[in-house]
Amino acid sequence: MNDLANESKSVLVIGGGIAGIQAALDLADMGINVDIVERKPCIGGRMAQLDKTFPTNDCSICILAPKLSECYRHPNIKIHSISEVQKVEGKAGNFSVNVLKHARYVKEDECINCGICAEKCPMRVDDEFDRQLRKRKAIYMYYLQGVPAVMTIDKEKCLYLTKDACRICEKSCERNAIDFDQQDEIFSLDNVGSIIIAAGYNLLEDFDNNVLKNYGYKKYRNVVTALEFERMECASGPQEGHIKRFSDGKSPKKIAFLQCIGSRNDRSEKYCSSICCMYTTKEAMIAYEHDNSLETYIFYIDMRAGGKGFQTFLEKGAREYNIKYIKSKVAQIQIDGNENPIIVYEDIDTGKINKLQVDLAVLATCITPPRGIQDLAGLLGVELDEYNFIKTIPFNPIETNKDGIFTCGCVHEPMDIPRSVSEASGVAARAAEIIRKG
Ligand SMILES: Cc1cc2nc3c(=O)[nH]c(=O)nc-3n(C[C@H](O)[C@H](O)[C@H](O)COP(=O)(O)OP(=O)(O)OC[C@H]3O[C@@H](n4cnc5c(N)ncnc54)[C@H](O)[C@@H]3O)c2cc1C
Repeated sequence: MNDLANESKSVLVIGGGIAGIQAALDLADMGINVDIVERKPCIGGRMAQLDKTFPTNDCSICILAPKLSECYRHPNIKIHSISEVQKVEGKAGNFSVNVLKHARYVKEDECINCGICAEKCPMRVDDEFDRQLRKRKAIYMYYLQGVPAVMTIDKEKCLYLTKDACRICEKSCERNAIDFDQQDEIFSLDNVGSIIIAAGYNLLEDFDNNVLKNYGYKKYRNVVTALEFERMECASGPQEGHIKRFSDGKSPKKIAFLQCIGSRNDRSEKYCSSICCMYTTKEAMIAYEHDNSLETYIFYIDMRAGGKGFQTFLEKGAREYNIKYIKSKVAQIQIDGNENPIIVYEDIDTGKINKLQVDLAVLATCITPPRGIQDLAGLLGVELDEYNFIKTIPFNPIETNKDGIFTCGCVHEPMDIPRSVSEASGVAARAAEIIRKG
């Protein structure tokens, strides 16, 4: 197929989550050169943070990891990690793009990810990948299976870069891979035929807001968010897959999952995050697989299980995993003397105000557009919708207002992995048309 592509033209993919990865792989397999610009130290996006994935409940990283290494090894794909788009000029068929690559302070072609530097590093800091539920070192691997599989130095936390002391990592590295002289650099990508925006999403808790205060998040130790709970369930996560309360280290016997936190009401975001009905049931199922004496309760406004086999999945939750679904509106979470969350809710079927004491509460928080989306949209000249997701054409949901710029995955609306992947193949085909036209 290689001979069909116009070799001088490439496609730029912004964001290396599952959507960006799939788009890049499809294009690369057609013989088209692709540059992935990813702002984190590794590609993988949110899917790398998940434990299992609905609808099959397969291990998330087991599905993702082969795609990560395929991307890394593919001769037609270049991954630019810890990088951001800085300037875009031109038009469909011929964009030119400036990319800012932040210093990693580690030579990517020398580091073999042996981890000795991290063992020796004296600085312990909150681990962002594990949602601050454990510590990592100032020199670190973003996550275990991350690609590129090289260390990164956290410039804000490194003792040498902040206080001109230490340099222990440098002394411990037998391959001389540490390079404190590295600088941020700007490079340009010319002859970019098409651009794909696949910058994914953030979550409500990533931004300052009052909504979560009502539920005692960050105040009560036994109230966590759904993504934190994914990390707690995960065998490579901070609790090594043994779910424990943060107040006393005990395994919870009663867990409440609260849906629509920060979505679908006038005080917060008005839209539906669309995936929480499904992932909440998934999280409850996995927790039950860890401990089948567990009682779980899902507080929901209504169930939105529109995908293939999704309704059956929820029914299976009730039938085989002891999940009790409570149609309700949760007003607030209180706490008792043992730091047990008490869910105060209106039962929609009876109209009564009830209380349920549990050991742990999990909040399914609203999906938001990714941090910095306004700046990115401004650089690209694409429009945003009323919620700041990328605006798309009503009957062509992968097309932006700008010729040659396409979008896929959660950056234009919340969606699950299967849909992100199918959209990714859709944008790859549209971008390929532009390259082939030459
Ligand atoms: C708690 C929870 C559980 C879930 N469970 C499931 C499940 O079981 N099954 C399922 O199908 N779905 C699940 N999902 C949804 C799933 O996470 C998304 O469908 C999927 O991650 C979307 O992929 P994406 O590539 O669009 O976005 P992301 O995974 O967010 O990837 C986007 C990438 O773009 C990068 N980026 C952002 N901005 C920029 C920028 N300006 N420049 C460069 N790079 C940038 C980010 O760093 C990231 O790597 C779950 C979501 C949550 C919150």
